[in-house]
Amino acid sequence: MKLPTRLVQRAKAPLANVDSLTLPIYETTTFVFDSAKQVCDYNEGRGRYLYSRYENPTVVAVEQTLAALEGAEAAILLSSGQAATSTALLALVSAGDEVVCSAAIYGGTLHLLTEIFARLGVVVRFARVEAFREPEKLLTDRTRLVWFESPINPTLRCIDIAAVARACRTRNVLSVIDNTFASPVNQQPLALGVNLVMHSATKYLNGHTDVTAGVLAGDSALIGQIEKARRRVGGIIDPQPAYALGRGLKTLAVRVERQNATAMAVAEWLSRDRRVAAVYHPGLPSHPDHEIAKRQMRGFGGMVCVDVGGGYDRAARFFDRLQLFQRAASLGGVESLCSLPVLTSQWGHTDEELREAGVTRSMARLSIGLEDPDDLIADLDQALT
Ligand SMILES: *Cc1c(COP(=O)(O)O)cnc(C)c1O
Repeated sequence: MKLPTRLVQRAKAPLANVDSLTLPIYETTTFVFDSAKQVCDYNEGRGRYLYSRYENPTVVAVEQTLAALEGAEAAILLSSGQAATSTALLALVSAGDEVVCSAAIYGGTLHLLTEIFARLGVVVRFARVEAFREPEKLLTDRTRLVWFESPINPTLRCIDIAAVARACRTRNVLSVIDNTFASPVNQQPLALGVNLVMHSATKYLNGHTDVTAGVLAGDSALIGQIEKARRRVGGIIDPQPAYALGRGLKTLAVRVERQNATAMAVAEWLSRDRRVAAVYHPGLPSHPDHEIAKRQMRGFGGMVCVDVGGGYDRAARFFDRLQLFQRAASLGGVESLCSLPVLTSQWGHTDEELREAGVTRSMARLSIGLEDPDDLIADLDQALT
């Protein structure tokens, strides 16, 4: 039987001179060269694409949008937030280096450092949020990198980004912030002096709860160094989710502004309600870091944490009664979600560890979506009854 040679070869002619309004998905693992000279040109850094684990036009287009959003020279996309964190650390730290990390940090970051990087000989030191008020005292001669978040899950404590960046620059230490909770709409850490911004693009950046992705943004030299590690480690994103993320980014500013406004309304309503013990939102004057947040954030974000009081049982009852808020982990999507920190990010923590993170057993974390604020408040009202 004659094999279908022409069917397996690409049809070039219909694709010439196409100018699509939206971003094409280059769903290919490899790219075609005309000549040995072109391959040499590629190897010497002059244009074109070779292999999609290195770079892909759909991915590059979305990376350029992300760099513009963060005010960065360059950005790279990875297959998850965790791939971004691990690739950045593999690129930037070596055995014997010390990493200073906020003790209140995303659980995945904490476990990556304690379970994997510590085993590779990296010295990991955790510091309380309060210790970040005097960041110069956090650094030793062995410190290579400081990793922190602001606002921090789930209490939305904030760290003075400019102060940490300044202390690090003075000592030639790299500062890295996980900017996931704020999004680039609300907070621009590179302008405040940090070296590297990381995002779980799974959250606000994509915003539709259907893409897992991670981003790193910074100056070209630093991103270039991490991009080399991405080739080796292999954590680049595929073109299809990169495309979906690019589509989500088009509505980022509109979504986040609406989420900011609704979260503020929800936080204010909860803070007037005598049935709850405490409400945490950086936009509330009662929040311990309201002044820091006002200085460094353009909006206070779409996350609200409520301590319903009465221990775990009352929190679980409130959680189970919700009708509009979906009971799910994750955040930053168009759907409002509720999670109980002691069942997710702080699962299995001792009382002492909970105290360190400022978390109680009666806390519920709300990620505010795009529903009508009155409907969300009505749901909280009935769930608290
Ligand atoms: C979700 C999240 C991550 C991890 O991102 P993935 O995309 O799930 O790998 C890191 N940091 C924060 C603050 C997050 O919320």
